Amino acid sequence: AATVDRIAAGEVVERPASVVKELVENSLDADADEVRVSVAGDGTDEIVVRDDGVGMRARDLEVAVEQHTTSKLRDAEDLESGIGTLGFRGEALHTIGAVSKTTITTTPRAGERRGAELTIEGGAVGEVEPAGRPPGTTVAVRDLFYNTPARREFLKTPATEFARVNRIVSRYALANPGVAVRLTHDDRETFSTPGRGDVLEAILAVYGRDVAEAMVRVDATPETDAVDRITGYVSHPETTRSTREYLATFVNGRYVSDRALREPVIEAYGGQLASDRFPFVVLDVTLDPSRVDANVHPRKTEVRFDDESAVRDAIETAVRDALLDEGI
Ligand code: ADP
Ligand code: MG
Repeated sequence: AATVDRIAAGEVVERPASVVKELVENSLDADADEVRVSVAGDGTDEIVVRDDGVGMRARDLEVAVEQHTTSKLRDAEDLESGIGTLGFRGEALHTIGAVSKTTITTTPRAGERRGAELTIEGGAVGEVEPAGRPPGTTVAVRDLFYNTPARREFLKTPATEFARVNRIVSRYALANPGVAVRLTHDDRETFSTPGRGDVLEAILAVYGRDVAEAMVRVDATPETDAVDRITGYVSHPETTRSTREYLATFVNGRYVSDRALREPVIEAYGGQLASDRFPFVVLDVTLDPSRVDANVHPRKTEVRFDDESAVRDAIETAVRDALLDEGI
């Protein structure tokens, strides 16, 4: 790959968890019912993401790995409509392929179900070959950063890198309870959600029984135009952790880490949380996509709301009411 490509790749693909994030987003965008993620070691050895989504035709597979190609951005209106599909930059497969040995195997769900396979090694795109697999897509990323030793240097221990992977896959599993998400590390299952559409079942699978049993349901339709609905779960003030990591907040189903979402949740506890303790939270704020700008941060985890104070008020009220209902 050209040097510029490799440098650009470092912006999107910082570590194994960034690869996992992009691949899982693609699987979810592809309407998968089942997404399986497996990671070996610190993730540089191998990351495999399999889905049963719409798949790709052979000619689309070739196009998909080119730079700035995406099947998701149709017109300028799509760009302005804020949060729709998860990806729209058309960069991920191209950049991952520039810094690894990546094989994509895919079979379209519709039309002729002929499978195809393509390997990219350090940005060099191979030939599309026929392949057999059921409808869906498998992306296997091996030897990540083999040609960018500086990136490799910067990685932490396998346990730390995998913890980041786990955090990301967990969030997508919680945001998409209708999708069966399974994560394995060195062939051992970390968690597996049933994909029956129940958030509490996903919480049980990801965080375990103690956490799931301490959850309080939130379901509010605020009176403001700024928010349509706020749904999810927050934990009893006694079930907490010492990091913010378990505050999983979403806007229209997409993970968003923004103070405008986190702070009103904490406020809603009205001082019942011990200092420096944080609740478990899985909360989705649904609103008109034109009322939120998702493009303020290149990694897309921050947003800007049209009417932030109305959103904050709606969240605080929704969570406080839910806690009050439980006598908390
Ligand atoms: P983006 O997601 O921003 O469109 P990517 O580089 O991540 O860009 O993917 C390029 C294209 O490859 C996507 O637009 C999509 O058409 C196709 N694609 C990638 N992953 C999958 C998948 N798991 N299933 C079906 N199509 C996929
Ligand atoms: Mg993508």
